[in-house]
Amino acid sequence: MNLPNLNDARIRTKEKSIIKRDDYFVPLSVKNIGFNKKYYILTYGCQMNVHDSENISAIMEDLKYCKTLDMDKADVIILNTCAIRENAHNKVMGMLGRVKHLRESNPNIITVFCGCMAQEEGISRELKDKYKWVDIVMGTHNIHKLPIYLSNINEDRKQDIEVFSIEGDIIEGIPVKRDSKYKAWVNIMYGCDKFCTYCIVPYTRGKQRSRLPEDIINEVNNLIKDGYNEVTLLGQNVNAYGKDLDINYGMANLLEDVAKTGIDRIRFVTSHPWDFTTDMIKIIAKYDNIMPYIHLPIQSGSSRILKLMNRRYTKEEYVSLFNKIREYMPNCSISTDIIVGFPGETEEDFQDTLDIVNMLKFDLAYTFIYSPREGTPASKMKDDISLDTKKKRLDKLNKLVNKYALMNNKKYIDKVVKVLIEGESLKKNKFMGYTDTMKLVNVSCDKKYLGQIVDVKITDVKTWSMDGVICDD
Ligand code: SAM
Ligand code: SF4
Repeated sequence: MNLPNLNDARIRTKEKSIIKRDDYFVPLSVKNIGFNKKYYILTYGCQMNVHDSENISAIMEDLKYCKTLDMDKADVIILNTCAIRENAHNKVMGMLGRVKHLRESNPNIITVFCGCMAQEEGISRELKDKYKWVDIVMGTHNIHKLPIYLSNINEDRKQDIEVFSIEGDIIEGIPVKRDSKYKAWVNIMYGCDKFCTYCIVPYTRGKQRSRLPEDIINEVNNLIKDGYNEVTLLGQNVNAYGKDLDINYGMANLLEDVAKTGIDRIRFVTSHPWDFTTDMIKIIAKYDNIMPYIHLPIQSGSSRILKLMNRRYTKEEYVSLFNKIREYMPNCSISTDIIVGFPGETEEDFQDTLDIVNMLKFDLAYTFIYSPREGTPASKMKDDISLDTKKKRLDKLNKLVNKYALMNNKKYIDKVVKVLIEGESLKKNKFMGYTDTMKLVNVSCDKKYLGQIVDVKITDVKTWSMDGVICDD
């Protein structure tokens, strides 16, 4: 048993990250353990978790389990959790109730709890003390050891909790079963060292550590061979890529090398304004296969609040970066994240946020009410804003954000745009995909266009999506 510890999770040493290439293996005892059995996986949270679940699925299928989309039919139930805000946390705890019910009716069911919530000291203790029926609790650093944990459970049905509060290594060679045949997530780095005062990620995901450029390029080349059209380079703070490698090679170099592989479309998330260099902007502008879309979280329009958040930029610096991006790429779409109700946010601070939204007119903004996370500096700050006020601010902000989203989308009416058709739409008889600028388009077209980048004429727009018809037809 190994429980997480917040003090250890905070530590950052000067030690270089170790790349481990042989740490994933399947013990003989569990080689075919999943034969004729099913697993169910439920993923909460960000793209990083979605991609971790692709790794977990591949591991389960390596053990010969088959995936089911019906939790009631599963022999193994896996919850891959998110700790970013209280509501994600509450949803998981609610789901545990349902899993418990299934487990009681069939004690052979194996339950696995993993992801960022497992990295929280309080949660892992609670699972140990009150949820003894949860068989395996593993953290974000040791997904690749799942076969070993299943082997242990197979031998001895005792709760196995192994969560490490460490800076973390880079584990290469974990298998992956991608959800899409056309678009792939590619991790370029793990962890985060920014320590924004509200954020739990640096504690749950360890220190910032970059994969080697050659490992990333190899992965992209293999994806091209497998017919993929699009990669999204993933990291909590991708612009800082390479800073820990000491090889004088950064995000601009990586973007250029990935562009040279010739893959049709390259995206990247998430960009922190602090590390966004002019070199990067020039490279994005230079290559047609790097998509003109940047997610650039601002978090607040008040420089005072940004300082309290430890975001390392002022409102003016953010605006200047935004304008520079638009100077090099006038058609680049830019989205953002905004938190309202950070401790001590005054009406004036909130007005600064509204002002900046009015000034920059983001293509899209993901908005959140501040949620205190245990162990973060902000959770100890005096927070005297009522929940009612926070909700009112969020509502006001959302109205403004939606106004500009629709206004920006309206510019697309009657235009012809390139869309990668990637799946069935939620709308009947339609397929869906994204423009290069990351606008969701529902297209009336034949199934034969799946996996193709096609010209689509936009016929109607809404706040969150557009409708279009294929030009070939
Ligand atoms: N690394 C990214 C960055 O620096 O912008 C974001 C990572 S986080 C998974 C996504 C978003 O969640 C953040 O941009 C922030 O707006 C929001 N977030 C993080 N912690 C939060 C908290 N304690 N309360 C409310 N929102 C939070
Ligand atoms: Fe969290 Fe800030 Fe790191 Fe983003 S940059 S993951 S918000 S600490």
